[in-house]
Amino acid sequence: MKGRLAGIPSRARRHHFEQGSGMTKTMMGSLRELQKIDEEVRTLRSEIEAFDPRLAEVEEPALRLEAEFTKNRARLDQMRTDARRLERGAEDKRARAKRLDERLTQVSNLREEAAVRTELDLIRRAIEAEEQEAMTLLEQVGRSEVALEELEEATLAARAEVEPNQEAMLAQRGDLKDRLSLLQSRRNVLLEALGDAERRVYESFHGSGRKVVVATLTEDGACGACYGMVPLQLQNEIRRGSALLRCEACGVILTAEPEPEEVTPVQSESGEPESEETESADIEAAQSESPGA
Ligand SMILES: [Zn+2]
Repeated sequence: MKGRLAGIPSRARRHHFEQGSGMTKTMMGSLRELQKIDEEVRTLRSEIEAFDPRLAEVEEPALRLEAEFTKNRARLDQMRTDARRLERGAEDKRARAKRLDERLTQVSNLREEAAVRTELDLIRRAIEAEEQEAMTLLEQVGRSEVALEELEEATLAARAEVEPNQEAMLAQRGDLKDRLSLLQSRRNVLLEALGDAERRVYESFHGSGRKVVVATLTEDGACGACYGMVPLQLQNEIRRGSALLRCEACGVILTAEPEPEEVTPVQSESGEPESEETESADIEAAQSESPGA
């Protein structure tokens, strides 16, 4: 990493590019590396996005149970509130019945006594009905509490089962994101080092979604991107490498320099590029650790 960064032109050297004879080998190398980086950035982005549905799928059973648990707990709370309200109603009525009982000892005639007794009778029946209702409700509360406890256990178990898988996936996605930000900072360094004209061409191509910005002139004088023939005069200028020259047909920057054999990839922090094999091994390890699997 250090060695590669050391190769990046400083501002002073960039100045030299702009004043010099146009495209230099380093500039062309930078454009090609940018092209490769953006290709990898696209791949990484779609790999990172692919984690969203996978994560949702892994979490689904736990989420479903959690939703059911929340709903049932709210229903249980409502039943408890209803039972308390019924009990309070019965209490109030018992107090009224007590006052009526006392009045019964103070009545002055039979008609008054009959009226108090009628009211007392109505209140006692209402108390009985409310007590009955409260009792039925409390029995339901009891059953719901047992069921909710079981549901809670199932929810916690599902969550525990999901977690190792989820963590493995999040770790993988984190590695991809780290690599992406590494590439993006390298990309910024490269863009900064380009001449203004090159940067404009590169960014307009990139902005419009075109993947090839630099192409090599073929031996028989065709554009390496669209394979249209390049006029002889332009071919000569390209071979001299004297300026920023573009294909008249497709607009790519043309160079006579052959494509380098292998561009060393930007290393991840560990210094080791992640392989598919280690990633799937991680998932398998996580899955075998999960309880009940
Ligand atoms: Zn072309």
